[in-house]
Amino acid sequence: MNLTPVTIPKIVKTMFPDFIWDIKTREKTLYLTFDDGPTPEITEWVLDCLKKHDAKATFFCIGKNVKLFPEIYNRIIDEEHGVGNHTFNHLKGWKTKTPDYLYDAHNASVEIKSKLFRPPYGRIKPKQAKSLLKDNYKIIMWSILSLDWDKNISASKCYHNVVDKATSGSIIVFHDSKKASHNMMYALPKVLDYFSKKGYEFKRILE
Ligand SMILES: [Zn+2]
Repeated sequence: MNLTPVTIPKIVKTMFPDFIWDIKTREKTLYLTFDDGPTPEITEWVLDCLKKHDAKATFFCIGKNVKLFPEIYNRIIDEEHGVGNHTFNHLKGWKTKTPDYLYDAHNASVEIKSKLFRPPYGRIKPKQAKSLLKDNYKIIMWSILSLDWDKNISASKCYHNVVDKATSGSIIVFHDSKKASHNMMYALPKVLDYFSKKGYEFKRILE
């Protein structure tokens, strides 16, 4: 399964009906998500930017980073954004034995109090997913990848990946990481402007 395209082919969504690929809504609502933080300066920049636009988002944090930067994590919570578990060590599910994967996710859950889970790289073995679902986790995938981390795409392309494809209920992936910051910092304010002017609201994903 190749998850690098900007949008997810219908067939993939049908193959994994237990995963959440978008949020059904009649309202003009979009769901921004940020993976891989908290990262000093970058996460704070994102929080400032969201505040300016009165937007809420969901941060899929890496447990290790929450442990390193609890004050940034607490700011995310204080400003009423959502948080989710993105494992403790950002593990690749396909390359990790299931007990090790679950142990790592559990370690992250000590830091991150949330029943939302996003597998790093979107790669998770059916057994791993099954166990998390049984444990009442919601596995949050996405509708749109901005591809902000990809050094081969321009900042403008990253912006267009989002505004050309997002519709009501879309779950959009950005990263509050160093690697993605160049494209993300260009695209995010423009995405917020573009959709706010069209009457969209940005909300957090509920558990
Ligand atoms: Zn990640």
